[in-house]
Amino acid sequence: MKKFKGLAMLGFDKIGWIEKEVPKVGPTDALCEPLSISPCTSDVHTVWERALGDRHDLILGHEASAKVVEVGALVKDFKVGDKVIVPAITPDWEAVESQAGFSQHSHGMLNGWKFSNEKDGTFGEVFHVNQADGNLAHLPDSINIEDAVMLSDMVPTGFHGANNAEVAYGETVVVIGIGPVGLMAVAGSVLRGAGRVFAVGSRKKCQEVAKYYGATDLVNYKDGDIVDQIKDATGGKPVDKVIIAGGGLETFGQAVKLIRPGGIVSNINYLGTGDAIEIPRIEWGLGMGHIRIIGGLMPGGRKNMEYLAQVLINKRLDVSPLLTHRFNKLEDLEEGLLLMKDKPRDLIKPVITL
Ligand code: NAD
Ligand code: ZN
Repeated sequence: MKKFKGLAMLGFDKIGWIEKEVPKVGPTDALCEPLSISPCTSDVHTVWERALGDRHDLILGHEASAKVVEVGALVKDFKVGDKVIVPAITPDWEAVESQAGFSQHSHGMLNGWKFSNEKDGTFGEVFHVNQADGNLAHLPDSINIEDAVMLSDMVPTGFHGANNAEVAYGETVVVIGIGPVGLMAVAGSVLRGAGRVFAVGSRKKCQEVAKYYGATDLVNYKDGDIVDQIKDATGGKPVDKVIIAGGGLETFGQAVKLIRPGGIVSNINYLGTGDAIEIPRIEWGLGMGHIRIIGGLMPGGRKNMEYLAQVLINKRLDVSPLLTHRFNKLEDLEEGLLLMKDKPRDLIKPVITL
C-alpha cells in the first residue's frame, strides 16, 4: 500500500510528521494533492486548547487549493489534473440537515467539518475529498493558487459572519477580533453596504488592513472597555450589528451591551475554552429585547466556492493583504502553524505554496 506524509496532531499539545496509507477513493470521492495550503487558528484551538478532545495521529489542516490526482467512478465534473478550490467544510449533501439548509451539520452537530476533525486534513502530500462534485469547485485561471486558499475558510467564514448579522445598507457594525476571519467580516460587511464599521483589535498590522477593507473606526481593546469606547464614539447610540471573530466568552456580554433592540450578534469565533456564556439581563431587554444571538460554522460546498470566486474574479475583494508570511515547502507547514499559534505582531496569515 502506498504511503504519504503529513503534519499531524500526535496528541494534546503535540504536532509532528507521520506517514499514513493513501486513503481509498470511493465512487463519488476524489484524492487531491495540495498546491497551496494555510494553517488556521482552528488548528491551534484543536491542538493546544484541546477544544475537540483528544486526537491521535490526525493530519491537521482544512485550507488548500489543490490538483485532483484520482477520482471515483461516479464523479462527473472533475478529472485528474484539474485545479480546484477546496472548502474547509465538506458536507454530506444527502443528509436531512443539509436539506434543511444547515449542511455544516450534516449527520450531526458540526459534522460537515471533516478535514482535521473527523478525518485527515489538507496538511499532507495528498488528502481525500468526499462527494467531489458537491464539495470541489474548479479554480478559475484568473485566481492564483495562494489567493484561492483564502476561499477555503477565511472569506467564507468572515462573509458568513456578515450574512448571519444580516448587515444592511448604512448600518453600524462592530467586528470584534480582526485576525484574518474578522478582516473578512469587515470586508463582507462593507460589501453588504454597511455604513460605519468599528474594527476592534490591537495589532497595528491588522488595524491597517482593517482600514484597507473599509473599517471607519479602530478600537483597541487593550485601551479599556470597548463598550465605553464605542459608545463614546457613537454619542451613546447603540449599534445595529456585532460580529464576533476573536476574544473569549466575555465578548458576548460586550456585544449585547452595544446593540440596539432587534439587533443581531453574529459569532464566527471558535470558542475553544470556557464553559458558559453570560448574557447581561438588563441590556438583553430583560429577555424581551429582540436581540438575536447566532453562531455559525462556515458553509462549504461547491456553489458557495463558485460564488465567492466571482467576488475575487470581478475584483470586489483582494485577499492578498491577508497573506503576510509566504513559504514554499511542505515541511514549512510546521513553522507556519507555530506562527499561527504565537501570532507575531506582523502576522495575519501564512501560506505555503508547493
Ligand atoms: P486570530 O487569532 O488570527 O484573530 C483573532 C484576533 O482577536 C487575534 O488577533 C487576537 O489577538 C484578537 N483578540 C483577542 N482578544 C480579543 C478581544 N478581547 N477583543 C478583540 N480582539 C481580541 O484568528 P482568526 O484566524 O482570524 O480566526 C478567528 C476565529 O474564528 C478563531 O477562533 C477561529 O478558530 C475561528 N474560525 C471559525 C470558523 C467558522 O467556521 N466559524 C472558521 C475559521 C476560523
Ligand atoms: Zn479554519
